[in-house]
Amino acid sequence: MITLHEHAGLAALNTFGLPGTARWLAEVDGAVDIAQLARDPRFAGLPRIMLGGGSNLVLSGGEVEALVIRLRAGAWHEALRDGNRVRIVADAGLAWHALVTECVAAGLGGIENLALIPGTVGAAPVQNIGAYGVELESVLHAVDTVDLHSGETRTLSRTECRFGYRDSVFKHEASNLAITTVHLDLATDAPLALDYRDLREELAARGNPPATRQLVYDMVCAIRRRKLPDPAQIGNAGSFFKNPLVSAQQFAQLRERFPDVVGYPQAGGDVKVAAGWLIDRAGWKGHRAGAVGVHDSQALVLVNRGGARGEEVLGLAARIVDDVRARYGITLEMEPRVL
Ligand SMILES: Cc1cc2nc3c(=O)[nH]c(=O)nc-3n(C[C@H](O)[C@H](O)[C@H](O)COP(=O)(O)OP(=O)(O)OC[C@H]3O[C@@H](n4cnc5c(N)ncnc54)[C@H](O)[C@@H]3O)c2cc1C
Repeated sequence: MITLHEHAGLAALNTFGLPGTARWLAEVDGAVDIAQLARDPRFAGLPRIMLGGGSNLVLSGGEVEALVIRLRAGAWHEALRDGNRVRIVADAGLAWHALVTECVAAGLGGIENLALIPGTVGAAPVQNIGAYGVELESVLHAVDTVDLHSGETRTLSRTECRFGYRDSVFKHEASNLAITTVHLDLATDAPLALDYRDLREELAARGNPPATRQLVYDMVCAIRRRKLPDPAQIGNAGSFFKNPLVSAQQFAQLRERFPDVVGYPQAGGDVKVAAGWLIDRAGWKGHRAGAVGVHDSQALVLVNRGGARGEEVLGLAARIVDDVRARYGITLEMEPRVL
């Protein structure tokens, strides 16, 4: 069923809590409804935008001149079982964390490190969500999509999704596709990913008990609750900037000037620099500028301290980008999408 709202308020539909409206907001059940909207002459010429949990968005203010489409929550099921390997199929409107919780409870492994990431299943492939040493691409088998303009359906394989660091084809050539279902390859014996420093420290703090999937899930949830601001308490969109990639040579030069700079060497030889360190070291942590600011303990998280507008968030982000560029010669890239 399609439910349509005209000039619909979006403030309650984005975790930053920023004001804004959509020219049209449609709530739908799945691919058939989206295909129907795609062909509806009332929306001819209007851009179409998928909205999930609104946890990776900045509304720049005013009305979004588009048809904004939200999938209602869905379900998941086991589609194939071959020994220990289990393929599941999940509806895009389902909350990502609910899927992780239910898979862990069902003994299915591979996504426990991605617990408590806000948002929906359908948005997870868009930015190849990642946390605590695991990225979605490591378990994604395929996604079913529907074209937001033609209504045609198409299934994309993992290779066709062209995943990168917080990146996929859905941010580029395939931004006209709505993801309607996601197929994941999980396993009852998937190895536990415990390499990430925070997890090792948490395990040690708990007295190094034998690691189980449920324990990894519990530790990820505990660390995230302790470290990350809850959007229900203070509006935010998680990490506001991506960790920039620099060459090994550029990183070596940076380290000469800042011996404590934090970087993670990558397979190709480049180094991923911790954007949070760059911003923190530049003195922005806890910064306040009217209704917006930088979180008091997470330099990578911009926050709405109450009543902020999108343009204030973007203004603060631009000042941080300029300052970081001037200090380190590195240009930060925003992670959330601006509408
Ligand atoms: C407190 C907090 C912590 C976070 N931690 C992490 C983290 O650890 N790791 C991480 O990777 N991210 C993190 N995020 C970012 C965010 O949770 C993820 O990017 C999430 O996948 C966004 O899901 P969403 O449903 O809210 O998407 P939205 O914000 O609604 O949309 C994001 C983008 O996806 C598109 N989109 C949404 N649904 C669909 C669909 N069905 N088909 C096609 N396109 C779609 C939208 O058009 C938009 O471009 C965090 C955010 C917050 C607020």
